[in-house]
Amino acid sequence: MSSELFHVIEPRAFNRELLDELCDITDRARAMAKERDGAIALQQLLADKRAMLYFTQASTRTFLSFNNACHILGMGTSEIRDPAISSEIKGESFDDSIRTFSSYVDVIVMRTPERGLAGRAAALMDRIPRRVPIINAGSGPDQHPTQALLDIYTLEHSFIGRGGIDGKTIGMMGDLRRGRTVRSLCQLMKNYHDVKLVFISPPSFAMRNDIKKQLAQHKIDFTETQTLDDVLSDLDALYVTRMQSEWDVDGESLKINLGEFSIGPAEMQLLREDAVVMHPLPRGPEIDPAVDDDSRAVYWRQERNGMWMRVALLIKIFGVEAQLAS
Ligand code: ASP
Repeated sequence: MSSELFHVIEPRAFNRELLDELCDITDRARAMAKERDGAIALQQLLADKRAMLYFTQASTRTFLSFNNACHILGMGTSEIRDPAISSEIKGESFDDSIRTFSSYVDVIVMRTPERGLAGRAAALMDRIPRRVPIINAGSGPDQHPTQALLDIYTLEHSFIGRGGIDGKTIGMMGDLRRGRTVRSLCQLMKNYHDVKLVFISPPSFAMRNDIKKQLAQHKIDFTETQTLDDVLSDLDALYVTRMQSEWDVDGESLKINLGEFSIGPAEMQLLREDAVVMHPLPRGPEIDPAVDDDSRAVYWRQERNGMWMRVALLIKIFGVEAQLAS
């Protein structure tokens, strides 16, 4: 068995053993939930635990999937989704708010528009007597580790019978500069052998140097292009992202010809038969809804995988994986 898991702040902390174990726990929990008895047994697993969902930045999937993951495991949940209705409006500091949450719950799942706050909350927990795990559910344009975990699970499942992620060529397209999902996924790639990454973006939205440096350090092969058609037939997976226009300072995303970084039926014809198309969602015009009916479009499955991977994460954090049916 791999090591224990407590805070989930940065994907860099995950090793291959832990990733494989989380994928296995996801499969086992999912299989159990298919039968009524199994679903009831899952609801007993963490019935003595409570979670705080502190989401002060917009979220649909991550919030709902964590909320439902908690309920699948029998956990109670509390939530704050708007700092204007918490005591932060009265001037309470971030640290005092987090410390307050920790007085009532056993884990804090948090999403903030600022980078670095989940790490700060984890450091605070490590200094106080009632130390509860912190899960980063998205930190500004920086990181989204739990999305990267569900992406790994989706990729591994997409390549079952083909050796999993090892040896695959993965394209990442769109706003790579501000897209936290692709940044986090890149950080997990050090755990797989012979992976090649292809970054497809306008130059002004290229992957940042911090990630490129890390890839180089781990000897992960990556190339950059602005022309999707040139690389489509090489890809085992195309991970499409939307323009993160909420971070625009002067409407910079509007200046992009998004048609060049989009996929529709014509592009699907160039994609290999065994390749997959992923997207963290929500999507904009970068994936034509006509693609949804193609069996290579796995983004809706990817969305559902997110809930089960988050179930696995909570099981692992609280160390109850031995109680799952094998
Ligand atoms: N839902 C993902 C995120 O929170 C992707 C996106 O918003 O584009 O980062």
